[in-house]
Amino acid sequence: METGRNYIHGAWTASASGGAFEKRNPANTDELIGAFPRSTAKEVQAAVEAARESFPAWRRLSRIRRGEYFDAFVQLVKRDHEAIARLVSRECGKALNEARADVTEGIHMAQYVFGATRMPYGDVVASEIPEKDSFMRRRPKGVVAVITPWNFPFAIPLWLLGPALVEGNTAVFKPSRETPRTGQRIVELFAEAGLPPGVLNLVHGIGEEAGDPLIRHPDVDVVLFTGSYEVGSQIKTVCAADYRKMAACEMGGKNPLIVCEDADLSLAVNAAILSAFKTTGQRCTSASRLIVHERVLDEFERRFVETARRITVGDPLDEKIFMGPLISASAREKVERYNALSREEGAMILLEGRRPDGPAHAKGHFLTPHIYRMAHNPRSRVLREEVFGPHVALLPFRDLEEAVAVANATEYGLAVSVITEDYRKARFIREECEYGLGYVNLPTIGAEVHLPFGGVKQSGTGMPSASTLIDAVTHRTAWTINHAREIKMPQGLKTEIG
Ligand code: NAD
Repeated sequence: METGRNYIHGAWTASASGGAFEKRNPANTDELIGAFPRSTAKEVQAAVEAARESFPAWRRLSRIRRGEYFDAFVQLVKRDHEAIARLVSRECGKALNEARADVTEGIHMAQYVFGATRMPYGDVVASEIPEKDSFMRRRPKGVVAVITPWNFPFAIPLWLLGPALVEGNTAVFKPSRETPRTGQRIVELFAEAGLPPGVLNLVHGIGEEAGDPLIRHPDVDVVLFTGSYEVGSQIKTVCAADYRKMAACEMGGKNPLIVCEDADLSLAVNAAILSAFKTTGQRCTSASRLIVHERVLDEFERRFVETARRITVGDPLDEKIFMGPLISASAREKVERYNALSREEGAMILLEGRRPDGPAHAKGHFLTPHIYRMAHNPRSRVLREEVFGPHVALLPFRDLEEAVAVANATEYGLAVSVITEDYRKARFIREECEYGLGYVNLPTIGAEVHLPFGGVKQSGTGMPSASTLIDAVTHRTAWTINHAREIKMPQGLKTEIG
């Protein structure tokens, strides 16, 4: 068992109060991964002060020099790739293959920001006055709070920290209480890469105890949050009360996958299985609604359920396993409540989600896929709310207008996928659905870092993560230089007095 530490101004420290929380392996709760500081406003204060103090020197470094720390970080992550992936898998219960992909995605984000440091970070802009040169230049905003979920414990912190730090901000990072060791590993690797003290600070803890004082701190300029709508909407409201503070929140999803009449059904079933059950359905982009044309629904249903029955559930470190456990006992109970609710709401259950028995599953939060068929009902909770587990509905549609109406009948708007051989249908979905990430003949999962990652409605606040997050962490400034010997004003303004 390890004792975790906060990282404040380049020093690894225990919690000031002495409080700690435990982290256990969700596939085997006998395995204690570590005890981590249960930080409070006191540690948050020290971390924000460290970030503020380090900001001027970090901002003044060359952008390219800042990027080089990310290059050094990437080399270290590559060195430790497999060990980090195993840690991710043990800590959050993802199948090892997915944990490796999580680490690889973190590498991609660090590589992206490293490369971006040699790209333009502003624009040369024309002026009405020929002797004037005008520029748009981006400047860092200051201290950035980074609050992350557990389900991509390596990649998501990099999506947020990458743009924030490379653009010259300093940061206080609070990882999820479910994945503290992976969060700490990221910071250890940046420290090993030589990042100056105070540029990246780590505060472990519980959302209400450590996250809340962090987002409220008056010296935090930007809050970058990824997590649930319930928490993100609170954060957005708190930050709105401080006129200087901006909050970019990426939140949940209730994503539809639409299977058209002309779809290649093998591809459709494969896309649906990956969308619904990868990461045990615990991705913000997981599909929990499969909207299928009524003419192919029976055939699709038969093949989908048959394939889902073969899904292996178990120890995520076993390479043959498709689905690991849910993240926690309460997460599993929540999914089970929604499974029961689907029946109460009148669904026809096609495959009942259950706790697998046997000694291999006794110590983990395992649950098998739950699949049901239902007519669309705009009041249904199971069809509108994020479940975040292996729980999926099959819904029939007659024409594309209806498919779009069903797809949009939720407060979320993150990912959508359409399976079709007809480009006109794909275009109709592209134009009429409400989403941030759209796919044709692909699952709803599988984003890449150089594309914007963000949703609409309750899924996001319009500042997509990853590469496009630069808009949240920089301020666009205008800079204008006069090369004439006299002053010439735009809009025909006169310069003579009298
Ligand atoms: P969560 O909202 O419970 O927690 C996210 C983070 O917020 C954690 O670090 C938590 O400690 C912190 N937090 C909790 N209460 C807080 C408070 N009052 N003040 C400040 N911080 C607080 O989410 P989770 O369970 O870790 O992750 C799952 C959710 O994240 C799902 O809804 C999923 O869809 C979403 N998610 C979204 C994206 C995206 O990019 N849109 C990506 C991954 C996950």
